[in-house]
Amino acid sequence: MSPIFMTLLLIVTLGVFAYTANRRWRLLMVGAADKRSDRVGDRVRATIEYAFAQKRMRRYPLAGIAHQVIFLGFLVLAIRSLILFSRGYVEDSSLILFAPHTVIGDVYSLLKDVFVVLVMLGTLVFFYYRLVVKLARMTLSTEGAIILGIIFVMMVADVVYDGAWINLRARAAGAEVTFSGWEPVGSVLALLFQDAGDGVLRCLAHVGFWTHTSLVLVFLNLLPRSKHFHVITAVPNVFLQNLTPRGRIAPIEDIEGKVEREETLGIKRIDQFSWKSILDFYTCTECGRCSDHCPATNTGKKLSPKHLTIDLRNFLYQHETALINPSRDRKGADAENAEYAKDLVDGVIDPEVLWACTSCRACETECPVFITYVDKIVDMRRYLVQERGEFPNELQTAFRSLETSMNPWGFSQDERGQWADGLNVPLISEKPDAEILFWVGCAPSFDERAKITTRATAQLLQRAGVEFAILGPEEQCTGDFARRAGNEFLFQTLAEANCGVLNGYNVKKIITTCPHCFNTLAHEYPDFGGNFEVIHHTEFLARLVREGKLVPKNRVERTIAFHDSCYLGRYNDVYDAPRDVLRAIPGVKLVEPEQTRDRGLCCGAGGAQMFKEEEPGDERVNHMRTEQLLATKPDAIASACPFCIRMLSDGLGDKERTDVEPLDVADVLLRSVEENVPAEQTAGA
Ligand code: SF4
Ligand code: SF4
Repeated sequence: MSPIFMTLLLIVTLGVFAYTANRRWRLLMVGAADKRSDRVGDRVRATIEYAFAQKRMRRYPLAGIAHQVIFLGFLVLAIRSLILFSRGYVEDSSLILFAPHTVIGDVYSLLKDVFVVLVMLGTLVFFYYRLVVKLARMTLSTEGAIILGIIFVMMVADVVYDGAWINLRARAAGAEVTFSGWEPVGSVLALLFQDAGDGVLRCLAHVGFWTHTSLVLVFLNLLPRSKHFHVITAVPNVFLQNLTPRGRIAPIEDIEGKVEREETLGIKRIDQFSWKSILDFYTCTECGRCSDHCPATNTGKKLSPKHLTIDLRNFLYQHETALINPSRDRKGADAENAEYAKDLVDGVIDPEVLWACTSCRACETECPVFITYVDKIVDMRRYLVQERGEFPNELQTAFRSLETSMNPWGFSQDERGQWADGLNVPLISEKPDAEILFWVGCAPSFDERAKITTRATAQLLQRAGVEFAILGPEEQCTGDFARRAGNEFLFQTLAEANCGVLNGYNVKKIITTCPHCFNTLAHEYPDFGGNFEVIHHTEFLARLVREGKLVPKNRVERTIAFHDSCYLGRYNDVYDAPRDVLRAIPGVKLVEPEQTRDRGLCCGAGGAQMFKEEEPGDERVNHMRTEQLLATKPDAIASACPFCIRMLSDGLGDKERTDVEPLDVADVLLRSVEENVPAEQTAGA
């Protein structure tokens, strides 16, 4: 078409892109180290499933299909763009491989035409969401509309060029223009243009060609400067996702050494985030699916995960020059006083935002590009708690109780085993060869409501002939809430003590009724030398029922709404076991709230919320969840977590719904298995 103009166009646009991309790369490298090169096979599989096949987008049928075709269209049309760039130099170039009337050339040209149409339709779907539906969760900026407009015009320009070019090619060969199944769209346009003169056709071909090629290059340059950077970063972000168990918070390594060396504990400054966190910031598409499912956002708290990412990203970009330029700022004497080095908390992020998080991971489960939040929020809490000593007042009491009494409420350790009075449950010190350790946990040991479930579980195990023992006063809090509240030092002290005791008794298999203990024992204690098979009581009970060791026979005439604990479901994929137990009980009618399983709303207790006042908002999270469950018109609400049951009991109490019982799955099963168990023995407090 015009080698000189094409060369100039490529030099300028690719030069600007290289400049921007280099700055973004250097900014990424400013981040702290984070190893993500392990388990390449799993990473490739996840990338195919979630980046190329876009599995998470299937939750949104129309938008999912539209996004999938645009994504695949970009891959197919990238070749088309290369072909067109080459035609800037050689008019009928097809990069050899894609020459017309060859198998590859014909198949590609058909594929290209199909995707041109599909991409057009896909952009129309997103125009519809932006301009007509105006989805509240999305960022409805003009930038988004401009990008969609560019994509649409690129497609139109491509087919206009094709129609004119097919005509010119036919005329040069002295042939007729006919419809071609290999170029369906191009040949239809060619038929439409066939009466045009050569000059008009040349003009259409030039307009189509230069519009398409220029817009591709403009689009490329807009990417790293907009939320559409995800077009480039989403695939690597999915590939480099965290493959450690999703409930695990990474420990602060060598915490005592760090204290001695006066290194910051937690994240104070933007450049203390890892390079992978920076890649997360780059990759956010601002779709708002995270905030749309966040219990804090939905109850009017200051926290919106999407805006947390956007605020951190904006701050990062704002200080890009200083951050990537070590000679000028980062190594200078004034580095500490540099604007980018200011405390993120208060400076960029309101502490109320951080303290509103329940660590439910609804945001992470929804995010199509695998951006994580709990790790970042905990890291900023770590800084607040351990460096600034700032945290909600109520946590002060809980931390102190944990330090002195090994449980958050300050009960004496001697009382830890009292729930078992009269049940003849052995301590492991008395029965060191017990096959299973029943890890009880703090709430199930001390909370009056939770103790009912603890006793029910012990009775069910005994009835099934399971040999088990408990630690009694030797058990200490796992430290789950301390860790999520940012008190890593306290967590590590407890983890090391508990692992020492468990390993001292050579414990191999653990059952627990608490999903928080379950998660910490299974996924976080391996970092402290504790490697155990950990089973949640609902999984174990489901197995005993399946094997006929527990036979539910008494009818329990209840309509039961089941609430998924985040730490059991989203954290550990245990959804079916508690439902299997309930379904096995004659008389039980199991009902599901509208938001259920991995979309279930949090009860509001996790992430240390249980031990502090809820942050200001429009509504309490447990009230919202209780309402959702009550909408199913149940006689009882069941869960499989002492925290959830406490929050839902409070919700029912606040709503004066004493007609609806809060129950654990084990409570219901015991009523069905045991003869003559009066309901009050397993009734909610
Ligand atoms: S973990 Fe839950 S509460 Fe925290 S930001 Fe994500 S969705 Fe919101
Ligand atoms: S973090 Fe993920 S879900 Fe949330 S707005 Fe960004 S891309 Fe969407």
